[in-house]
Amino acid sequence: MPRDFHESGLGCARRQGARTIASMNTDRLSAPRPRIAVVATGGTIAGVGGQASSPAYRAAVTPVDELIAGVPGLEQLAELRAEQLMQIDSADFTDERLLQLARRVAALCARDDIEGVVVTHGTDTLEESAYFLHLTVPSRKPIVLTGAMRPATALSSDGPANLRDAVAVAAHPSSAGRGALVVMNGQIHSARDVTKTHTLRPDAFASPHGPLGLLAALQPRWYRALTRLHTADSEFDIARITALPLVGVVAGHGNMRAEVWQALAQAGARAIVYAGLGGGTVPAYLASTLGDLCRRGIHVVRASRTGGGPVMRNAGFDDDACGSLVIDDQNPPRARLLAALALTRTQDASALQEVFWRY
Ligand code: GLU
Repeated sequence: MPRDFHESGLGCARRQGARTIASMNTDRLSAPRPRIAVVATGGTIAGVGGQASSPAYRAAVTPVDELIAGVPGLEQLAELRAEQLMQIDSADFTDERLLQLARRVAALCARDDIEGVVVTHGTDTLEESAYFLHLTVPSRKPIVLTGAMRPATALSSDGPANLRDAVAVAAHPSSAGRGALVVMNGQIHSARDVTKTHTLRPDAFASPHGPLGLLAALQPRWYRALTRLHTADSEFDIARITALPLVGVVAGHGNMRAEVWQALAQAGARAIVYAGLGGGTVPAYLASTLGDLCRRGIHVVRASRTGGGPVMRNAGFDDDACGSLVIDDQNPPRARLLAALALTRTQDASALQEVFWRY
């Protein structure tokens, strides 16, 4: 842990926080604590350095044991089994690392001596890893991802409270069977919905339909439930996935170029997600390029760049004529993952479209 951590007023606030945790959990101290695995992968929650006047700091530095030690009282919420799976900026998550993470989380969930898993993660791609676990880990045990918008050395860093909240959610029996969850800033989001919506603010994580719930006195309080398939009910299982096919994403904007789509096709993409304008509208000048890709068996998947709402079949583009697909309301990064997973099961366009409606 950086030296100035306990020397700051922040360390003092955290010690007060520890007393609060202890007093709230007097009843729990006599009961056996849930056994929670903490899988650390890096990110800003493990970041150090940076002045208020300068944005520069190093992500993925502080080891997991120090992260846990930075939240006094955390061990009273759960018996923690911490491991440092990787120590990276989450921008460096490749598909191989995503598979590694999912395999590890699935292995931990399969153990009888683990009741839930917390993953600490950089916020930049946190929603993608969360969604991948949501779709591929066949378990009803709580899987909770968290991170921080401010490094541990910042005044009012959000990491320690987020880690505490994530452990509290993972340790609570009511969190089971809800799929992978993202706990940030006192809210509990579904991995199906959540997106990082801001570059700086601690309330950066938001879901278009709202969070599933929040933490009240370190207890999860639920207000919504998912209707789509995930985890134990998903047809995808990390045990059967050895690699993901290449799926590209093309950003929608004015004056797009067909060459970008063609370059992805040349690179071997099996599908291309269109981060489309509005409801996924395709400009007339790109229609023949997309039709050509579909005829070559490269699936065109229409999503939206807006951040909310469904893409409707045959609205803004003639999907039936082109052979293209729509992803419902998934954002482009999640659309990439769902399309890649679906392609491990089928190459048929209508079967893929059915998969997209189910998740
Ligand atoms: N780019 C870093 C990462 O995603 C820092 C972002 C963060 O964790 O908030 O790991």
